[in-house]
Amino acid sequence: MDSGAEGLAQVLGLFRTRGSQTRADVIAATGMARSTVNQRLEALLSAGLLCSAGENASTGGRRAERFAFDADAGRLLVADIGASGLRTALCDLGGRVLAERTEEIPVTRGPEPVLKAVDEHFARLPLPRTGPGGGPALRGVAVSVPGPVEFEAGRAVSPPIMLGWDGFDIAGHVRRRYGVTALVDNDVNVMAFGEHRAGPPGVGHLFMLKVGTGVGSGIIADGRILRGAQGAAGDIGHLPARLEEPPSPGAEPALCRCGNVGCVEAYAGGWAFARDLFPGLADEETVNAVPEALRLLRSGDHHAIRLARRSGRILGEAVAGAVSLLNPAVVVVGGQFALTGEHVLTGIREVVYRRSLPLATRSLVIRPAALGKRSGVIGLAQQLADALFAPSGIAELLPRG
Ligand SMILES: [Zn+2]
Repeated sequence: MDSGAEGLAQVLGLFRTRGSQTRADVIAATGMARSTVNQRLEALLSAGLLCSAGENASTGGRRAERFAFDADAGRLLVADIGASGLRTALCDLGGRVLAERTEEIPVTRGPEPVLKAVDEHFARLPLPRTGPGGGPALRGVAVSVPGPVEFEAGRAVSPPIMLGWDGFDIAGHVRRRYGVTALVDNDVNVMAFGEHRAGPPGVGHLFMLKVGTGVGSGIIADGRILRGAQGAAGDIGHLPARLEEPPSPGAEPALCRCGNVGCVEAYAGGWAFARDLFPGLADEETVNAVPEALRLLRSGDHHAIRLARRSGRILGEAVAGAVSLLNPAVVVVGGQFALTGEHVLTGIREVVYRRSLPLATRSLVIRPAALGKRSGVIGLAQQLADALFAPSGIAELLPRG
């Protein structure tokens, strides 16, 4: 890549993070020569990525024209695939959700049926017609899945609960179908990314816990997603659970969906909550019973509340370990189970503040996801926009010649 692309990415990045700027603002922030700044602005204006944003009030001299990032210069399609449901959205280039759809579909149906459902959603979202005068073009598609992802290749790797997805080339599938930039990541990584962007600036270290049907976590360290060597970092749901009171003597440890026994998820995930709330369910029915279990919890059922609080405390033990290890400034808790009432969050807080090292919890904030159920789709759109406007991607958005 040439230094021109680097410079363009730098200038555009300024507008994306700081809002509207004058020529003089750009010169001051980048240290580039005026003539270089003029060239960059010209290129970004002619590509439609910047637009005019009025003028500064005159202070006696010439009025200074302001420019702004044009989030309407393109559209993004994103799909947040969870263990038991799917949320898709049409977003602008700033990550704003313009339209969205949801559907309950288990990821265990396999890649072909689930991605077909994604295609059907995309077809129904009001994507403007492209071409001359036809509105903003589709610039990229991003997909998240509930398992480890080999990020550069856009493939799921050895996902414990995603039957049939191992090695499936999700990014390739998307690129072939839509002919645009494709991005694939783990579902909790993108939630962490979205919550990190939505939070106050200057927070470099964030731990995101998702408690839905399953349990997973995403780690932001020094402002970046920590993926690990194989993309499996943050797989907190399959750590051994530390139980406050051991199960009755002789009882077998709970069997997990990953094939192991005694995992955090096997005691505290949404499916384990459904299993404990409705004793006698067959194993394969627990995932499908999650929506009904959450309805009961929402209605204020005392037994459901007690079980949810217990799930929170078991999760709290695992989070306390992560807090001591990673020293995040913020722990964000999301996922449909955790966001049904405050019960899971209360249980987590109770244990984390008691268990973690005092230095690690001195100013630790534990909060629910600020973006609610949209953390995933918004995080996907923002991560995709970052990839499109990185030096390696920006050249493709400029007119040729
Ligand atoms: Zn497990």
